[in-house]
Amino acid sequence: MTTKPQDQDRSKAADQTNAGRRRRAALLLADLRAYYPQVDCTLDFREDPWRLLVGAILAAQCTDARVNQVTPELFKRFPEPADFAAALPQDIEPYIRSCGLYHNKARNIQAAAAWLQQQHRGRVPDSMEALLAIPGVGRKIACLILGDSYGRPAVVVDTHCARISQLMGLTDSSRPPVIERDLMNSLPQEAWIDWGHLLVTLGRDICVARRPDCPRCPCRSHCQTGRSHLGLPEALPDFLEETHE
Ligand code: SF4
Repeated sequence: MTTKPQDQDRSKAADQTNAGRRRRAALLLADLRAYYPQVDCTLDFREDPWRLLVGAILAAQCTDARVNQVTPELFKRFPEPADFAAALPQDIEPYIRSCGLYHNKARNIQAAAAWLQQQHRGRVPDSMEALLAIPGVGRKIACLILGDSYGRPAVVVDTHCARISQLMGLTDSSRPPVIERDLMNSLPQEAWIDWGHLLVTLGRDICVARRPDCPRCPCRSHCQTGRSHLGLPEALPDFLEETHE
């Protein structure tokens, strides 16, 4: 079977886009790692997948700093998933009220704990499929647990990561599953976990949603938006080579 010329053109264009994004991603990654040599999950208890899961549920529309303030008392009162499973949501609510949306969050935490007791003997599973089956757990939380608790390669696409990856020119989509796929295609696998942490740090520090501070940004020479602010062509010139650490 022969391939039609227009199909060949389409796949060549797709290859060029992927190759271009991979090159840009490598340069941006080097910029970010040089500027932020140490980044990590900003939620406490990340080494314990259950406590990270609870923290991630509490972090919806709340700051990680606030979550870190309430979780020590919460886990003192409910040390294990079994303790949450045996509680009523109303028992949990007073401990998490300051995180907002506390009725829903208490319900989700209790339901997740009950599910883990029934299905996994109180342990948090380490596969995407099993994580997504837990009440209150979506893809973002599942990737966070896989990456930060179990050390499995996963890209966490939160609001910072989605917004800045678009500004940088690494994705055209605003849909998290598509962004995740685009980033997995352009970033080296060893950088998937770090990428989310790097963009959260950049998004809080410099590339803030209301007014990205491009002149101060370490990524300005390779970010599509940053280049445009500098009056440079958005596409990277061929002579810029990827840097390898
Ligand atoms: S150069 Fe500007 S738009 Fe690009 S990541 Fe930095 S602050 Fe954001």
